[in-house]
Amino acid sequence: MENDINWSSLPFGYVKTDYNVRTYYRNGKWGSLEISSSEHVDLHIAATSLHYGQESFEGLKAFMGKDGKIRLFRWEENAKRMQNSAKGILMAEVPTDLFKEAIYKVINLNKRFVPPYGSGASLYVRPLLIGSGPQVGVKPANEYLFMVFVSPVGPYFKEGFKPVNMLLTREFDRAAPLGTGKYKVGGNYAASLTSMEKAHEGGFANVLYLDSKEKKYIDECGPANFFGIKNNTYITPKSDSILPSITNMSLITLAEELGLKTERRPVAETELESFEEVGACGTAAVISPIGKIVDETGKEYFYGNQPGKISTKLYNKLLAIQTGDEADKFGWVDFVE
Ligand SMILES: *Cc1c(COP(=O)(O)O)cnc(C)c1O
Repeated sequence: MENDINWSSLPFGYVKTDYNVRTYYRNGKWGSLEISSSEHVDLHIAATSLHYGQESFEGLKAFMGKDGKIRLFRWEENAKRMQNSAKGILMAEVPTDLFKEAIYKVINLNKRFVPPYGSGASLYVRPLLIGSGPQVGVKPANEYLFMVFVSPVGPYFKEGFKPVNMLLTREFDRAAPLGTGKYKVGGNYAASLTSMEKAHEGGFANVLYLDSKEKKYIDECGPANFFGIKNNTYITPKSDSILPSITNMSLITLAEELGLKTERRPVAETELESFEEVGACGTAAVISPIGKIVDETGKEYFYGNQPGKISTKLYNKLLAIQTGDEADKFGWVDFVE
């Protein structure tokens, strides 16, 4: 069955597809994968995900290559990270082979929603792990539900690869230094909504957070990692409250490949003025180049109205590997079949 989706005008949002997959962890073990065509879940009223935030998610993209093969980028890293998130908030871990079976199956079942090569669109894959068992006291659940749905998403940059502006905030924190910032859990997102809304109201794309303890160092950049480039060096913050981005990890490798030095270390706010290029990175956009960072007092760091040369090179290179236009010499790409 074909469909009449206008791929290039798709938003980065939810589109209903044919199927999703689900499985429960009960009595200490995972069950078999169920295929569902319902967009809803039947959940216990006292499920721990609803009350105490036992929830973790992942996000990755599948691309159609020129050769007609569907490619997934570093999915094993997503599996590992979800296991780490599960450990962090005491949920049952999804084994790597079950994770793989689920994402491959849901992509294969929804093949007609994989956007064609060259459209700029891709199939977004959203694995989700939640505490589904009831508790009233604050305790981890005895039952978990792992689900994966997909949604075709449009190119992140509708008007092409252009810099965005960020609000540097001292009024809000996203995560505590020894808290859950390093896990991909919904609670971090709930904690970020007010500051993000404030940024949007001010005309900014997102928020740049400082470290919650000293308010001196750059931390997370909205739902993405931050990086800066100067003196032929790619620099990204090291912090225990940052989510380890797979895109960032890959950009570090590609930067070295391009002959740059790379550093992962604390980045003081005072260093912002010395960067030649800055950006945010994550699966959704790969790289969002940052044109300007403004703090709540109006202090401004300006980088330019056009994306920097190195950011552009890194962006094109990573995207080319993901879509299969460039050879995958790092073994990052797997074919879905
Ligand atoms: C998912 C996420 C990222 C980006 O990670 P990728 O693996 O590159 O998609 C960065 N920061 C936060 C807070 C995230 O949730």
